[in-house]
Amino acid sequence: MKLERLLAKHDSMGRRQARQRILAGRVRVDGRVTLVHDLEVDRFARVELDGQPLRQAERLLHFMVNKPPGILSATRDPEHRTVIDLLDDPDRHLLHIAGRLDRGTTGLVLLTNDGRWSKRLMAPEAKVAKVYRVQTRDPILQQAVDDFARGFYFHTEDLTTLPAELEIIGEREARLTLHEGRYHQIKRMFHRTGNLVTALHRESIGGIALPADLPEGGWRALSAAEIVGVF
Ligand code: URA
Repeated sequence: MKLERLLAKHDSMGRRQARQRILAGRVRVDGRVTLVHDLEVDRFARVELDGQPLRQAERLLHFMVNKPPGILSATRDPEHRTVIDLLDDPDRHLLHIAGRLDRGTTGLVLLTNDGRWSKRLMAPEAKVAKVYRVQTRDPILQQAVDDFARGFYFHTEDLTTLPAELEIIGEREARLTLHEGRYHQIKRMFHRTGNLVTALHRESIGGIALPADLPEGGWRALSAAEIVGVF
């Protein structure tokens, strides 16, 4: 997010006022004064105004959404509806997504304003399990179970995917558990087996499962047990 916007949002001043304060040298990012009003700052940056840390939102927010197809996993988009648009919490503009899904993918998405929580959840070394139900164009061969367990080499990133557990539950249906989240990972993995993903649905992230009674497009706050039990 741009520094000017972050400042304006947190201290409910106008953007012009926020910009003036930045240009007057009153704002520090990670300990250093910056005059760059459109500096991109991530949510973990320490921002101070006149030596005071920026007031964080008073409420720590943690939500789940059952994402329908066609909705973007983004916080803002000029054209398309986003997962944030599904919520009607007054502080929804403060949220970020802990683990995006492709536009066509459905199921569990977690949203929060708690940067420490999401950072821990998404850290590669945490290896939090994400479980997906996958439907494919062609029958899934038994051999694929070993292929997914062994991992696939991805040229563009120069890495081999972590062992993933594939459970074949139908001729063209499987449950897949990943311990990482790479760009279009499941589609790319199935593509490497010569198959094609036709539907993808996320059932759970760590200890948080999508409840059967949360309809598509529905959302709710996480319980305290879910917030700590996700890891
Ligand atoms: N892997 C994909 O290919 N797409 C998703 O949305 C999630 C995981």
